[in-house]
Amino acid sequence: MTRPSRVVIDKTALRHNFQRVRQLAPNSKIMAIIKADAYGHGLIRVAETLNEADAFGVACLEEAEQLREASISKPIVLLEGHHKASDLSRISELQLEVVIHNDNQLLTLEQAEINNALQLWLKIDTGMHRLGFAVDKIDNALNRITNCNNVVKPVRLMTHLATANEDKHPLTRQQLNLFEQVCKKLDFETTIANSAAILNFPETHREWIRPGLMLYGVSPMAGSDASQHGLNPVMTMESEIISIQHLKKGEPVGYGATWECPEDMPVGVVAAGYGDGFPRHAKSGTPVLVNNVRCALIGRASMDMLTVDLRNQPEAGIGDRVVLWGESLPIEEIATYADTIPYELLCGVHKRLQFIERD
Ligand SMILES: *Cc1c(COP(=O)(O)O)cnc(C)c1O
Repeated sequence: MTRPSRVVIDKTALRHNFQRVRQLAPNSKIMAIIKADAYGHGLIRVAETLNEADAFGVACLEEAEQLREASISKPIVLLEGHHKASDLSRISELQLEVVIHNDNQLLTLEQAEINNALQLWLKIDTGMHRLGFAVDKIDNALNRITNCNNVVKPVRLMTHLATANEDKHPLTRQQLNLFEQVCKKLDFETTIANSAAILNFPETHREWIRPGLMLYGVSPMAGSDASQHGLNPVMTMESEIISIQHLKKGEPVGYGATWECPEDMPVGVVAAGYGDGFPRHAKSGTPVLVNNVRCALIGRASMDMLTVDLRNQPEAGIGDRVVLWGESLPIEEIATYADTIPYELLCGVHKRLQFIERD
């Protein structure tokens, strides 16, 4: 691979962040969330590195199959449960755990002929209104589960918060109260917290927590970055300068000629673009590190290239290192400049990039 854009994965940072989660919630078991190719970091790589996790959470059977093929023997939870009745025999064979969130899943589970009973997480909709049984349907669902031989008892209860990344949104309190009401008469293990809740609402640390983003050293809260929470970024996206232009005042840069030089100035061309997962909507002014010095993106990012203002780094030359996010440049900040969230940037990192692991 001669193209200079690449992704560096810092496994030491990943392990550090995991320990930080343990420290924040010392009495909870950790279901490490590694869906979407571990938020773009590499499913197997992350699962092997987080060998102290109590379980892994993934979105679908295909992801779980990859983990089992890589000899990951820990509990694996399918966060959306089975998508089709015909998935159940494979799920049972691989001894996966399932989140059950609707009647149809419960019915197909009752009817299934499987060899190993499944550990089940019953998902309760406390107000996010995406997945889960309404609170008044829980008694019925639990009755059916109690009578179902395909389920390991006791089941576990789960809910998901819609606004935990905001300090004071009233919905969080409502959701917690409702979940409490359902759970207090039942003696089951429960789980509520994603990264934002782990950080903002310690009272949500139940028997299990479900960190995703924070494991990768990224903050789920707008306006804060992960270092404030003692987390270190795991992914650095980097590239190199492949050309330098010395442009005159008034000359435009890039597609659409949307940016004009305010004075005579050097402009660097970097070998990374939206084809690598750098957001095309990043505004002019988005920070880019050239030789560890903050410079500004100018003009539109194109497929394989982007352009930077080198007035802060006039001595920069071809081959010099450029960091687009990660070490010393929080992805949270880039997301803000691109009107998106760090989750989307991480998941959009293109697999054509060279991935390098650092320990
Ligand atoms: C993705 C996901 C998480 C992890 O969320 P983060 O914000 O990345 O910590 C937790 N629980 C469920 C059900 C999820 O789908």
